[in-house]
Amino acid sequence: MKAYLMGSDQRIVRAARVSFARDEHTDPERDRKLIKYLFEHRHSSPFEHVIIALEERKSFWLYLLERLEVPAVQVYYSGGYIWLNLRNYINAMDLLPTELMGFIQERLPATIAVIKGEETENYTTDRVFMDRKVETSSGFVGLVDSLELGTDMDYYTFVVECPIFVARQWHRHRFGSYNEVSRRYVSYEPSFYVPDYLRKQAQTNRQASTEKPVEEPWNSLFLKKIGWYIQDLKALYNNMLEKGVARELARGILPQFMHTRFYWTVPRIALDNFIALRTHEGAQKEIRELAKAIEGLVGYRGTEKKLRL
Ligand SMILES: Cc1cc2nc3c(=O)[nH]c(=O)nc-3n(C[C@H](O)[C@H](O)[C@H](O)COP(=O)(O)OP(=O)(O)OC[C@H]3O[C@@H](n4cnc5c(N)ncnc54)[C@H](O)[C@@H]3O)c2cc1C
Repeated sequence: MKAYLMGSDQRIVRAARVSFARDEHTDPERDRKLIKYLFEHRHSSPFEHVIIALEERKSFWLYLLERLEVPAVQVYYSGGYIWLNLRNYINAMDLLPTELMGFIQERLPATIAVIKGEETENYTTDRVFMDRKVETSSGFVGLVDSLELGTDMDYYTFVVECPIFVARQWHRHRFGSYNEVSRRYVSYEPSFYVPDYLRKQAQTNRQASTEKPVEEPWNSLFLKKIGWYIQDLKALYNNMLEKGVARELARGILPQFMHTRFYWTVPRIALDNFIALRTHEGAQKEIRELAKAIEGLVGYRGTEKKLRL
């Protein structure tokens, strides 16, 4: 049996801890407890950031699909490998070769112990927090990890920091997994993107902007006002928290320029689709810069050409 795995016990915890903006913090003992909590309370999305590729015949994949009782379990086939994430693996493991469990256990000892209801001191960590990072005008993108076997389903994990409106656009890309900071949990001082200048509305494309700034004095005046409003809203936000307003409501006044952070684990076929759509001149400048940064980090293979639509 030949198999590959992207991730570690710590990867699951980091994807979970991003909700609290504490993805950089690690403590094996607390992390093991968190994995148990996630498993027992079915907070399962962090498990999606661990990816498994099993070298197999296509007929075995079809055998698997035929026997999967729950239609929500997503198992893919590409380049001679069965591809699935850990969440899907947990739901399909009874049908998969037993040696695969042994292989995964070596790489994810704490997680597999939880699944089996056992105890272990073992715990695996990531080699690095972030492999490479590119800053853009509105945020940054970092490559966390990749599993590249030369197929359309090769996987990548990124950590992205960007304004809320960019994250809204990003999360429309459904083929992939996300975990994001939750302002229901955190109350740390929010940070905001403010563009260097205010771009003018494009006349030809109703969605787009031009590279030109709006005329003075409006550009400087509006930028100044944006700065004032952000300061005022931040003060109101902090004041509401001090007086006991719930974080989940107080956050409602924080504007879309606010930064958020999320983990994104995505297969190459969807990543190329993202790069093609979001590096295009029709995409908004802020997401275009981040998409170009991703293209710089991992390149573009053109797998999206295989999708007619
Ligand atoms: C310039 C621009 C402007 C946009 N404007 C708007 C807008 O005004 N309003 C708006 O709502 N959205 C807008 N979008 C978002 C756009 O409609 C897509 O939701 C987004 O680009 C994600 O693309 P996708 O669906 O191909 O990607 P993914 O969701 O990652 O899907 C990848 C591929 O999987 C397949 N797929 C995924 N889900 C399904 C499904 N349920 N059924 C069939 N096939 C599926 C498709 O082949 C798809 O290409 C805009 C996007 C761009 C780039």
